[in-house]
Amino acid sequence: MADSRIRKIFAKEVLDSRGNPTVAAIVSTSKLSASAIVPSGASTGMHEAIELRDGGKRYNGKGVLKAVDNVNKIIAKKLVGEDCTDQQLVDNTMIEIDGTENKALLGANAILAVSMACCRLGSAVLGVPLYQHISNISARKPGLMPVPQMNVINGGKHAGQDNDIQEHSLMPVKAKSFSEALQMGTETYHVLKNLLKKKFGVLGTLVGDEGGFVPPIQRINERLEFMTKAISEAGYKRKIKLALDCAASEFYKNGKYVINNSEFSSGELVDFYKALCRKFDIISIEDGMAEDDWVGWVELTRELGKKIQIIGDDLLVTNTRRIKQAMHAKACNSLLLKVNQIGTVTEAVEAAKLSFNNEWSVVVSHRSGETEDAFIADLVVGLAAGQSKFGAPARSERTAKYNRLLAIEQELGSKSSYPK
Ligand code: PEP
Ligand code: MG
Repeated sequence: MADSRIRKIFAKEVLDSRGNPTVAAIVSTSKLSASAIVPSGASTGMHEAIELRDGGKRYNGKGVLKAVDNVNKIIAKKLVGEDCTDQQLVDNTMIEIDGTENKALLGANAILAVSMACCRLGSAVLGVPLYQHISNISARKPGLMPVPQMNVINGGKHAGQDNDIQEHSLMPVKAKSFSEALQMGTETYHVLKNLLKKKFGVLGTLVGDEGGFVPPIQRINERLEFMTKAISEAGYKRKIKLALDCAASEFYKNGKYVINNSEFSSGELVDFYKALCRKFDIISIEDGMAEDDWVGWVELTRELGKKIQIIGDDLLVTNTRRIKQAMHAKACNSLLLKVNQIGTVTEAVEAAKLSFNNEWSVVVSHRSGETEDAFIADLVVGLAAGQSKFGAPARSERTAKYNRLLAIEQELGSKSSYPK
């Protein structure tokens, strides 16, 4: 085995897909080095680990030079000399130096950049692909490729809109392989583009933060009708299903939910979702309720949880404490896993394992602010999670992940499989 001792850690400020600063880290041994870049959310959950920003005038307060300094001056001092293949040791060391519940001292962005770069370096030192290294860490069998949730209509914060459903996705569940699923979803994306162009002209095909279209359609029913028509015209009726991420924390105000100009109580919102599920082929709803509306979540899961996937994102924030709470309350049945919500690879793996052990599904997710780093493509295969949420099949920060998945599928050859 090559030398696994960390010789150098260096962080710098780079840009994400929205043009906001983020942290990149490069970690080296005597012979090898690996880098990673941290993503960033817009509809960020209140309970997420802290993303350290500089404040002040520079980059409208969004600079990350403090987080970069924390890597170069504090984290590097502690981790140089340690074994980069020991992910737990690396991550626990940073968690200990930080010492807070939510990584507020060093910043989850500082910690995660080093955690992901070490993980990638560990795989290089061991001479195995990153997904294999993650599968060894998580004790999951690699080979299961994900069903992609492809966000083709962007709304809410990702489209500059208030009081709106955020994500409308295609799920090609009846594909034989990941590459076939990607083809099916992408062809449908292009049919949808033509339909929107015909109806709205070029204004109908502008894209939002995750590469999905932002047509001038307020009504969710009409958006889903367009998607259903696109699926049909592309020739994938019953083969591609629908998924929503409502991001309901964003439209929850003073105890009421407001979508467009309509107000809903939790119970009325559950009825609204039930009606949508009767009318459309929806198999998954994420963040149907706000992050602390536990009563609403329990009702939603009681009413729809036997038929469809109820995913917790802002509710769970990839945090085992909140996941346990949700399991106890029966508040959802699926985890959205975002590494930067918790801040280390080790804790993200723990969150996934807790979910698998309790028969929840796990969806590995990007953030709306992404980068060219495709770490999560290896993560979803390494965890054998079976579902990904990496946005539309457009814009390089999204396609970087899809293209990495294609490469992994090819590398795995006959050892790859697609969920049945
Ligand atoms: C999401 O809410 O699932 C999402 C990807 O958006 P963001 O990164 O803005 O939280
Ligand atoms: Mg979400």
